[in-house]
Amino acid sequence: MAALERSLKTEAVVLRHNDMGEADRLLTLFSRDAGIIRAVAKGTRRIHSKKAGHLEPFTRVSLMLARTHDLWLVTQAVAIDLFLPLRDDLVLTGEAAYVLELVDRFSYEEGENRNLYNLLVETLERLSRGDPVFTAVHYFELHMLDYVGFRPQLFNCVHCHEEIKPQDQYFSAAQGGAVCPKCGELVADARPITMDALKYLRNFQRTAYTRLIQAVPSAQVEREVEAILQYYNAFLLERRLNTPRFLDEVRKNRAAG
Ligand SMILES: [Zn+2]
Repeated sequence: MAALERSLKTEAVVLRHNDMGEADRLLTLFSRDAGIIRAVAKGTRRIHSKKAGHLEPFTRVSLMLARTHDLWLVTQAVAIDLFLPLRDDLVLTGEAAYVLELVDRFSYEEGENRNLYNLLVETLERLSRGDPVFTAVHYFELHMLDYVGFRPQLFNCVHCHEEIKPQDQYFSAAQGGAVCPKCGELVADARPITMDALKYLRNFQRTAYTRLIQAVPSAQVEREVEAILQYYNAFLLERRLNTPRFLDEVRKNRAAG
């Protein structure tokens, strides 16, 4: 057996797992102390494996990991919270899966983000206990954007920097926030946003969660907030995914030149 190079005791939320070989699983974990970690759980696909139930997606788990060469192995796993209500209700399963996917796609490997970890655990608890889904999920989204460095600017126009007035505005993903009516036509990707929807986005950024869950948005505001966040996230993820490709091009050109 190869010598262990390192070991790590941490807790984590299981984001997903993939089958590996006959009996093993490769887990993608978001850990409290090291961000995203990929780790192998040996034998967890065998029927009698004790560890298996503790390593299903959505589970918050206390872990011992050991590193051999470039691979983490799970040596111990004890569930802290299984978040069972998230497995019993299809809507909640879908919403929780969306939250986990955002964490997965917006996080760097093995970089601690304690704020994001705590927010993730709180969000799974909120969804489990039946809090309003719209508020729990989008509160998560706005604060996650903060913690990964993409907080949208919603109080001043991102183009002319003037304070946003209480009227319908625009939103630009490329510029990263609200655009005033005067600048709306000057910013290529700006799309309209009503003042009501913008107000909700702003509240998600600055109002305490306990106060937010008392507000009930209209169906139209819900749809608008969702559409804007989807547009913004898709833009950010695409740009990020493009970065390595861009670097490859630069390296290839340099090698060729
Ligand atoms: Zn402006």
